[in-house]
Amino acid sequence: MKICLFSSKPYWVKWFGEVNNYYQIEFFTQSLNINTVKETKGAQAVCCFVNDDLNKDVIEKLSENGVKVILMRCAGFNKVDLEAANKCGISVLRVPTYSPNAVSEYALSLMLTLNRKTHKAYHRVKEGNFEINGLEGFNMSNRVFGIIGTGNIGYQLIRVLRLGFNAKVLAYDIFENKDCIDIGVEYVKTLDEIWAQSDIISLHTPLTPKTKYMVCEETLSKMKDGVMIINVSRGALVNTKDAINGLKTGKIGYLGMDVYEHEEDYFFQDHSDQIIKDDDLQLLVSFPNVIISSHQAWYTKEAISSICKTTVQNLFDYEKGEVKKSNLVNNPQ
Ligand code: NAD
Repeated sequence: MKICLFSSKPYWVKWFGEVNNYYQIEFFTQSLNINTVKETKGAQAVCCFVNDDLNKDVIEKLSENGVKVILMRCAGFNKVDLEAANKCGISVLRVPTYSPNAVSEYALSLMLTLNRKTHKAYHRVKEGNFEINGLEGFNMSNRVFGIIGTGNIGYQLIRVLRLGFNAKVLAYDIFENKDCIDIGVEYVKTLDEIWAQSDIISLHTPLTPKTKYMVCEETLSKMKDGVMIINVSRGALVNTKDAINGLKTGKIGYLGMDVYEHEEDYFFQDHSDQIIKDDDLQLLVSFPNVIISSHQAWYTKEAISSICKTTVQNLFDYEKGEVKKSNLVNNPQ
């Protein structure tokens, strides 16, 4: 079976090389979209990443070209039109958990960096400036954390905050996780309680119509002044324009984003010799209390190795008709 792998990078070639001796993988550096879908003729599977565009038109073309399986090498599948995939009889498989620790540890690193300003200290000392004025932080253990989404990643973050920092952690999820309760998390019934009581808010839900823009003008108005917001999940959980206004008024005191609403045009690519035309992105980058990284929270050795192994296994299972329920995200007809 031939697989077309899109949004390829040297690290994907290397890690798939280590785990796959069986399938023929053709690597494309371009993302999958309506212009590149023609490359899939003769392939039975495509392997995609977070920003590949799997809209209805692309999926119909995939089907015309004979593609039967979409292998997402990530957990989220918000870019896939599942209804179109169902109609075309295409199975959509993903890697639901590859390393929750990778992502939760990254969220924590954003919190610590924003708080203790190590990114600024690094540059100061490099330039011979040993002044600490302006680098004041706060003790994490004294603050209230609000964690939204207590699945694999949210739980791992909560473990560190509770067992490592002994911090007060409030949580909100549509399903309560007993493991979180066992380590002293207090579930609240409404998001308003999270907004009102939390000093640091970290988002760990998937992007769905219900979670889109959960941080927006209205919800920001309910938060504490100077709140820290961390988003390592999906960009559109935060309304970018409202966040910019929140930063300008001081409502948001710190913003850590590993994901961005319009990241498709920039993330995972080197634009260092070009003019960045996304004004919101440029403005955010210019703020001293904002850290943006380009969707790298997942990127550890353990995680990428696990993603590649599970992706290959997903295709084996598909061929045997033994797909894992947790890895199949649609109902192909
Ligand atoms: P998970 O499915 O284990 O947990 C998600 C949790 O969100 C679940 O407990 C679910 O009940 C909850 N949830 C769903 N809808 C909700 C709603 N409307 N309100 C409140 N809670 C809701 O997923 P996970 O493995 O913890 O991953 C979470 C997200 O992190 C993924 O969907 C993905 O978007 C993102 N992610 C980002 C990276 C990165 O590199 N930045 C890597 C992996 C995952």
